[in-house]
Amino acid sequence: MGAIVLKNYIGGEWVASQSSEILDVHNPATGEVIARVPLSTAEEVNQAVAAAKEVFWEWRETPPLIRSRYMFRLKELMEERFEELARTVTREHGKIIDEARGEVRRAIENVEAAAGIPSLMMGYNAEDIAVGIDEDCVVQPVGVFCCVAPFNFPAMVPFWFMPYAIACGNTYIVKPSEVCPISQNQLFELLDEADFPPGVLNLVNGAKGVVDALLTHPDVAGVSFVGSTPVGKYIYATAAANGKRAQCQAGAKNCLVVTPDAVLDRTVAAILTSAFGTAGQRCLSGALVLAVGEVYEPLKALLVEEASRLKVGDGLDETVQMGPVVSRKALDRILGYIEKGLEEGAELVLDGRGVQVEGYPNGYFVAPTIFDKVRPEMVIARDEIFGPVLGIIPVADFEEALSIIANIPYGNAASLFTSSGKWAREFKYRVRCGNIGINIGIAAPIATFPFSGMKNSFFGDLHGQGQDAIQFFTDRKVVITRWF
Ligand code: NAD
Repeated sequence: MGAIVLKNYIGGEWVASQSSEILDVHNPATGEVIARVPLSTAEEVNQAVAAAKEVFWEWRETPPLIRSRYMFRLKELMEERFEELARTVTREHGKIIDEARGEVRRAIENVEAAAGIPSLMMGYNAEDIAVGIDEDCVVQPVGVFCCVAPFNFPAMVPFWFMPYAIACGNTYIVKPSEVCPISQNQLFELLDEADFPPGVLNLVNGAKGVVDALLTHPDVAGVSFVGSTPVGKYIYATAAANGKRAQCQAGAKNCLVVTPDAVLDRTVAAILTSAFGTAGQRCLSGALVLAVGEVYEPLKALLVEEASRLKVGDGLDETVQMGPVVSRKALDRILGYIEKGLEEGAELVLDGRGVQVEGYPNGYFVAPTIFDKVRPEMVIARDEIFGPVLGIIPVADFEEALSIIANIPYGNAASLFTSSGKWAREFKYRVRCGNIGINIGIAAPIATFPFSGMKNSFFGDLHGQGQDAIQFFTDRKVVITRWF
């Protein structure tokens, strides 16, 4: 029997796409086809937008306390299906099961945070702005929003935005990654069970065609995008040209600076998780270690030794420490960058190519790979590789490390490993990156803080999550009142 073709969820119904373009979805550990995903048509986007628009007024008139109750119900359903969701994430993406559990947990946390909507979206007022005249600021939902999601956190990313959007009283359309669309499909089964009014939440599978139809549709108010920088720039520009709000979280090249007084064993452990967790396919992954002064040699030796011991395999095996990369295409791209690093003269001190995983001859595996003597101008130091490839750049001092970071076009994350409070303060004060870690390798904000980003890592005015999300998903209306 062939793999099932995923359906769209439009206006509270599961509907088969009429598209003739259908892609295979693979389990990256085995190479097997586990589902098929349609590239839906513009007409199907129109149907989803129409359904979301139709229910908007009914939903926005639903009191926030009641909208919040839907969040509690959704949370319970997600808890009940927690393990199944995590296993789906591993099967479609490849990340190890513990990381998949972490991802589903974070999705739930955003639902929990959005349940605070009755107080999160209160307005404010001032009496007597002139004699006998009062002024109010009311906070109102806007309309239909959508999300365009990446492959690397297929369950969580739409949940960075959608819970706040609908808790605020908007309606929503999710366009999952066509590479990993299955977990959103499962989550929509739960949204269906939670019994939201039909049209409040819609799922349209597809790729660029669906995105373009959403971005040019007059009834779509805004988009939250997470993905690569070139696509992020395109979505930001297209959304703006069509008068829409946009928050576009994009690519990264994150540096991990280590000073000689860092606590070495714990630093090494944190760097390994940062560089090789999720097989390096995280926008917060550490890509470059900037080793300051005399820490360089001992740090390099420990990193190579410990990284070479990481167990690579199927993420569903609880003893595995790093899974495959997401696709054959991603694997080829990563192998291409390793070749490039060699051509550029970097020293390959740990070579993850050609790793064999017993019983998984068709998986997309590349083991942890480390380049030494990387120079900042090299392609492997500038491009986002998005795989388990770490570069080490020896630097003379802290200032040189900061200047390398300043010259990187991305600004997603940066970490410092140190025992010096002075350097820690300088780092957080001066580095232009959205997520700063001090003795933390993955500075991932919790649900109530914005997931920040600067330079080529973010295009837009307001981030997702917390108060920024509430502002993005609402209008502010000023009402000035005098009674005669
Ligand atoms: P991608 O840019 O290839 O795709 C992201 C989404 O955009 C997908 O839904 C895809 O269908 C759509 N898309 C692709 N090309 C398009 C086009 N030409 N026009 C319109 N839509 C298009 O990204 P990806 O490979 O799925 O994800 C990896 C990237 O995401 C990395 O660069 C990573 O750093 C980034 N990312 C960033 C963050 C963050 O918060 N900054 C978080 C996770 C991932």
